[in-house]
Amino acid sequence: MAHSDAAQDSSRENYCCPVCTGTDVETFFSMSEMPVLCNVLYDSPEEARKAPMGDITLGFCETCGHVYNVDFDPQRMVYSDNYENALHFSPRFQAYQENLAERLVKTYQLSGKNIVEIGCGQGEFLALLCQKGGNRGTGFDPSYRGAEKIGESVRIFPEYFDETHADLRPDLVVCRHVLEHIDQPIPFMNMLAKTIADVPDPVIFFEVPNVLFTLRDLSVWDIIYEHVSYFSPDSLRYLFRRHRLEDVQLTDLYDGQFLGIDARKSATEFDLSDHSPDQLGAFIERFTERFGHKKATWARELKSLSKEGRTAVVWGSGSKGVTFLNLMSQYPCIEYVVDINPRKHGKFVAGTGHPIHPPTRLQEAPPAVILVMNPIYQDEITEMVREQGIQAEIMLV
Ligand SMILES: [Zn+2]
Repeated sequence: MAHSDAAQDSSRENYCCPVCTGTDVETFFSMSEMPVLCNVLYDSPEEARKAPMGDITLGFCETCGHVYNVDFDPQRMVYSDNYENALHFSPRFQAYQENLAERLVKTYQLSGKNIVEIGCGQGEFLALLCQKGGNRGTGFDPSYRGAEKIGESVRIFPEYFDETHADLRPDLVVCRHVLEHIDQPIPFMNMLAKTIADVPDPVIFFEVPNVLFTLRDLSVWDIIYEHVSYFSPDSLRYLFRRHRLEDVQLTDLYDGQFLGIDARKSATEFDLSDHSPDQLGAFIERFTERFGHKKATWARELKSLSKEGRTAVVWGSGSKGVTFLNLMSQYPCIEYVVDINPRKHGKFVAGTGHPIHPPTRLQEAPPAVILVMNPIYQDEITEMVREQGIQAEIMLV
């Protein structure tokens, strides 16, 4: 079930960049047969192994600096309530969200205002924004499972957001980790622009994964089918400016893993003709080689563990863990996956069928090695592991 990432010849077919519609798109990396939805939970290993698979071919647009999967097929994506990618079980992530909500409320004096969150998940962040400023929140997410109202001031609808909701007149629109899943960001942004057309001075906050973190810092296991788009600061700015939204602030967040943009409506159009992305070229050029090197290093490591009869577990069944497992599935040393999200316990990993257990499983079936998928969680994971008296070696993947 593991599949190769054979370097493809760079080719220029008739690709059309989803951010700028430019056709100067060069493909530079490919990975075949990866799970189409890595955050879907499966009830049995057999079902998980039959999960739909798809091909990823990354193209780089030289006009706006965008990276995207030119092989992406939107027909294959169906988000439903068995989709689970909440990160808020991590104390580190919780603290991050608290600070972010506080910053937005303070900076834009959001008190007694209307807030709309597109793709709000189970509504944790929206609830924070409402609590901190006494605001009213409306969230939209087809994977939402709860009651329509959370407390007095937050409503959530289990559906996609569209322009029929313009009557909400939001003072703040939040959209986190959604844009990278949308195959046609231009119509999406047009729709957003329509919904805020009559609002005097709304603030827009978007958060997406940072492609520089993937390409430069080699966070390679972040490349997943669910992500059509991999935004760079250049392409994110381009998309916003194209829709007359001015980036008030565009920064790295969460140790460089995310990009956050605060934007406001601009009275005038932007001239995008002199937009010249320059950040990615060097990383794109060497990416297939560097990815191959990293993958080979881990293959060697797992091969030697398997040979010595030592066992390993992967900590984290999010995108990174699922990608890593699918690329390394021929090595039997990895027995199971640990996750702190209780909704994932007793479920199985798309593609490989590895079982997902709570951290307490480590005491019942202690591994020799724990593979940590995200550097930002290494400290809290190490602490949880040592608290349980587990002496396993902890390795950062
Ligand atoms: Zn482009």
